[in-house]
Amino acid sequence: MIEIRDLHVDYGKVSAVRGVSVTAHPGRVTLVLGANGAGKTTTLRTVAGLNAPTSGEILVDGKSVVGWPAHRILARGVSLVPEGRRVFSSLTVGENLKVGGLIASKKDREESMRRAFEMFPILEERQDGPAGLLSGGEQQMLAFGRSLMSQPSYILMDEPSMGLAPAVVDRVMDSVRAIADRGIGVLMVEQNAEAGMKIADDVVVVNRGESVYSGPVEEARKHSSVVSAFLGEA
Ligand code: ATP
Repeated sequence: MIEIRDLHVDYGKVSAVRGVSVTAHPGRVTLVLGANGAGKTTTLRTVAGLNAPTSGEILVDGKSVVGWPAHRILARGVSLVPEGRRVFSSLTVGENLKVGGLIASKKDREESMRRAFEMFPILEERQDGPAGLLSGGEQQMLAFGRSLMSQPSYILMDEPSMGLAPAVVDRVMDSVRAIADRGIGVLMVEQNAEAGMKIADDVVVVNRGESVYSGPVEEARKHSSVVSAFLGEA
């Protein structure tokens, strides 16, 4: 599992994260809710090794990864699907997937590609076309497929529903569930709390850089701090 304990992250004098604790388990979707600027993206980026914590612990399957460079954390099995998808528009769909598998052997890459196509048949149909021509929902599937190419144990997802039409959001969330059902631990930041809670197992609420609630999704629905996170009260 991924254990984030009392994480603090500063940008110069700005304290972005000041006491976030989250645990993400294999096969489960842990949904991180919170208003704009609450520190959710910074938390994910820090776990992925793209920001350095000021203090706190990040353990991946019991091993501290604080201070590790991003590529080493990826090799340890933690992959980030960034906010805004960031697919390479001018590369083909197939090339985008290959980029995600650069750390794997050729044999593993072929196997991962086959599994990504099995999960997202549209990617196989469009594999020779430019990624920039995919719809928003399809680009999100590609971002998931690219992340799966490194055969991660955990995937960090930053607002996968962002900018997508409501009908597409549900399809994307179904894919998130399917990824967790393969045994992968998903730690997902989502502004769309309703959509996220439909498929999540556990919920964490972050308020002004601090985690203020964590619990199973059924319990979270009854809890007032989670309801105010719905409303975006920072
Ligand atoms: P959003 O939903 O808007 O992405 P968030 O919960 O993901 O919000 P963060 O993006 O982690 O929040 O930002 C947390 C705080 O850190 C905010 O106050 C933000 O303004 C600040 N911040 C984020 N990135 C930087 C940066 N590169 N330099 C300085 N301050 C930053």
